[in-house]
Amino acid sequence: MTELSPPIAACWVEVVLATPAHSGLGDSLSYWSPERLQEGALVRVPLGARELLGIVWRVRLQPPEGLLPDSLRPVLETFAALPPLSANWRVLLEFAARYYQRALGEVALAALPPQLRELDAAALQRRLKKLEGAGFKVGAAPGGGPGPAALEPSPAPSWAAPMPDLSPEQAAVLAALEQGTQPVLLFGATGSGKTEVYLRAAQTLLQRDPQAQALVLVPEINLTPQLEARFCERFGAHTVASLHSGLTPAQRLRHWLAAHSGQARIVLGTRMAIFASLPRLRLIVVDEEHDPSYKSQDGARYSARDLAVYRAQLESRTARCQVILGSATPALESWHAAEQGRYQRLHMPGRIAGAVLPRLRLLDLNQQPKQCLIAPPLLAALAERAARGEQSLVLLNRRGYAPVLACHACGWKSDCPHCSAHAVFHKIDRSLRCHHCGHASHVPRACPACGNLDIAPVGRGTEQVEEHLAELLAEARRPDGGPVRVARLDADSTRAKGSLHQRLSQMHEGEVDVLVGTQMVAKGHDFRRITLVAGLNVDSGLFSSDYRAPERLFALLLQAAGRAGRDAAFVAAQQAAVELWVQTWYPQHPLFAALARHDYPAFAAQQLRERASAQMPPFSFQALLRAEARSQATAQAWLQAAQAAAQAADLPGLAQLTLYPPLPLTVQRVAGVERAQMLLESPSRPALQAFLQAWQPLLHALRRQPAGRGLLRWAIDVDPVSL
Ligand code: ADP
Ligand code: ZN
Ligand code: ZN
Repeated sequence: MTELSPPIAACWVEVVLATPAHSGLGDSLSYWSPERLQEGALVRVPLGARELLGIVWRVRLQPPEGLLPDSLRPVLETFAALPPLSANWRVLLEFAARYYQRALGEVALAALPPQLRELDAAALQRRLKKLEGAGFKVGAAPGGGPGPAALEPSPAPSWAAPMPDLSPEQAAVLAALEQGTQPVLLFGATGSGKTEVYLRAAQTLLQRDPQAQALVLVPEINLTPQLEARFCERFGAHTVASLHSGLTPAQRLRHWLAAHSGQARIVLGTRMAIFASLPRLRLIVVDEEHDPSYKSQDGARYSARDLAVYRAQLESRTARCQVILGSATPALESWHAAEQGRYQRLHMPGRIAGAVLPRLRLLDLNQQPKQCLIAPPLLAALAERAARGEQSLVLLNRRGYAPVLACHACGWKSDCPHCSAHAVFHKIDRSLRCHHCGHASHVPRACPACGNLDIAPVGRGTEQVEEHLAELLAEARRPDGGPVRVARLDADSTRAKGSLHQRLSQMHEGEVDVLVGTQMVAKGHDFRRITLVAGLNVDSGLFSSDYRAPERLFALLLQAAGRAGRDAAFVAAQQAAVELWVQTWYPQHPLFAALARHDYPAFAAQQLRERASAQMPPFSFQALLRAEARSQATAQAWLQAAQAAAQAADLPGLAQLTLYPPLPLTVQRVAGVERAQMLLESPSRPALQAFLQAWQPLLHALRRQPAGRGLLRWAIDVDPVSL
């Protein structure tokens, strides 16, 4: 018998694999290993006929109860060259999976670079060698065998780059950061120098602790290459690793390894980077923390901002880890947390070097010529700025030429055949494109319904504004006598590789006088010569059925305004008037009064009062159950059955929950799929969590019952940001 029993160093392990929750396999599977493994180690294990990458979640020195020592399948391969994933990392992933109601394996394996799945231990070893050749050292146990793998200390950054003297506000904030233990909400005006605060906070940390790491999250890294450049310039490119979806698989693996090994001292990334393995994480920055892109909209619908706060608390159990949420227009959730004293609010109201914030000029459309796209006074202002060598931004949150084509004879509209939405008219290639499913077709010669030749665009998009502005400004001149140059920045104009970068640098170089674009123009760009920002077509945000619409509109306009007048010296030399123009039919709307004063606190207070009286977030907690099917009736019937099952089982938390009736989504059909959802609301987060936890197995079961016939997908969205 003895020769059959496993060797003495053997262990039994619970391995987490990328298995979806509905497979019913549970969070982890048991294997045995002839050699002692560490928790957090990466392994390759068999599952059926496949071999899968897995993470050792727990190690036992005795076989699981009731099992013969060798009745389990063995671990096939161990990535011994790689240090194990830390206990904190595993707790973070467990929390995220539980809180957002997903399978642990799905979330944990998705957090690793995809290329890891394809490499065997030998191939990984070669990658690590290559990394070392490039200056990165990944510590491993002597001889590459199992056992504790060590983190190599990394080279100190050089701090060679020149640094500006801190403004008094920046200095005060940095001093306060030294003290506090709470999450910090850095409420700093646009252009107040928040980035310099992040840079200094990271620098202080890295100098003090030769192994410490900082994580800096940004909404969209490609949109703000300037920020990445500033970090690389300050800390040296070899100290900074970026993590985002724009990397090639090989880059992503390399950067991930640099972070995991402790070699990268600063990780700069988009929301996915919240799951980066950072063994010495001591600082997390969430820049523009209000940005909706921090909330994932598929798979595990996590909020990277909320997880940042959780992760910092988790890491702080071992050593202080600070989290800074920065914004000029914080999310109401964050603002509320600061009001309640859960976050420490640090304020930087002034702009660098005394630059002024733009003055609001409301253009009452009731007083302007009918049907005008850009009111004459605004047009004159744009021409005047260009003539003085100043730049302008024109914001219109709608791309394409016109949102719809219509036939005035019979009422035909250019609807997408697969979605309950209009196909947008793009004049550039005379196409009709659906922005929901991507369906594209040529503009018909005549109305497909009645043959009328006179079909016309209705409404306006950025393409049309660009075209009209170029025509309307044809007579205007730049200081050098040349024609005014209008350019466009939106998802269409930046699709080609390199075109985004090119547009942005044209703007920085002053080659463009008027930049028309979607919310892309409003992001954290540090343009230096803009003195005028104009918002067109903003009124839908004032009266939307989405209760978050005013918050979004206020943030968008204030952020867009924040691109103007950033360079005090330029503004003074030009004697320029720095202005935010807004065209509206409702100039009396209270949102504009707060905007005129740049008074985010007043706006937030008013919004929070409304939310409190309606018991909406952040005064209640929400989740959505979403369902997709070929017919709306099927999707809704399943949601109804899900509700009935919860009530029949009297799930925990139910008494403190409101379950609303199923409803179709605003865009109810996309790519031929009908979508419905059901809102759940509770004044208690724990009650909502307990309920969801108990509901999940019922939902998986329900899917397999007759009620689930015809259902394509379902998903839970916790703390949804779009309804
Ligand atoms: P925010 O992110 O708050 O909008 P930035 O961090 O982009 O502002 O800073 C605005 C501008 O001010 C940038 O061009 C930056 O280089 C500059 N800046 C920041 N801090 C200082 C300082 N202490 N002295 C001089 N210039 C500064
Ligand atoms: Zn017609
Ligand atoms: Zn479509």
